[in-house]
Amino acid sequence: MIRLSNVIKSFDTKQGTLTAVDNVNLSIESGEIYGIIGYSGAGKSTLVRMFNGLEKPTKGEITLGDSVISKLTGKALREKRQKIGMIFQHFNLLWSRTVLENILLPLEIANVPKHDQLEKAYELIRLVGLEGREDAYPAELSGGQKQRVGIARALANEPTLLLCDEATSALDPQTTDEVLELLLEINKRLNLTIVMITHEMHVVRKICHKVAVMEKGKIVEEGNVLEVFKRP
Ligand code: ADP
Ligand code: ADP
Repeated sequence: MIRLSNVIKSFDTKQGTLTAVDNVNLSIESGEIYGIIGYSGAGKSTLVRMFNGLEKPTKGEITLGDSVISKLTGKALREKRQKIGMIFQHFNLLWSRTVLENILLPLEIANVPKHDQLEKAYELIRLVGLEGREDAYPAELSGGQKQRVGIARALANEPTLLLCDEATSALDPQTTDEVLELLLEINKRLNLTIVMITHEMHVVRKICHKVAVMEKGKIVEEGNVLEVFKRP
């Protein structure tokens, strides 16, 4: 599904060159829930932003399915990106739009026919358990409900990959568990590949099949969750 070979990402800063991602090799298989764990500043976001082409590697190559995403530009990149969903710590919802309107947005952008847009949006609302809240505004929702809107919106164009950047970090422990259960169910039901960036061990233990531990831009451990966390 995703292959990274010798990926380096550096930024030019006033203090000189900063290497955020330092020679990473990684394979993520279709249908996996893959965790990327590490402290703040380890390079997790930069790494995952290259998965959907928001950042280009300075060196190395990233393959997603059958295309080299790190080489795509323009229309080809936009089309590929529509098949990659993303959810965020602070939800990134549009505050002046209702739940339904937030979920319709990616369908509008993708030029899905009007009638299909509504059908799809209501199907997603059922999937994430927000029936009855269609006309609410984000400010009227709990944190967990806001993230459910984020998930529904991310799934609107039937992505092959869902990227989660600290998606539960703004939620309390119980709400975190509920959102993780939902992601697990979606992974099983749609066989959707999920990549989760987190600094929380609990999140990885609860739903990830495999995990990579990042430190200072490098992957220092990688493998099945049970094995990695058992190592001394
Ligand atoms: P994490 O997601 O693990 O917290 P990031 O990928 O956000 O880590 O950041 C890794 C390092 O790269 C940090 O030192 C950060 O300041 C730096 N960095 C990230 N994006 C940029 C950028 N656009 N310009 C300069 N430095 C950046
Ligand atoms: P998050 O909370 O999601 O990790 P950040 O606050 O680290 O977000 O980064 C927000 C944005 O700023 C990102 O686009 C990231 O690439 C950029 N960024 C992070 N660190 C730096 C930096 N030192 N210089 C310039 N841009 C940065």
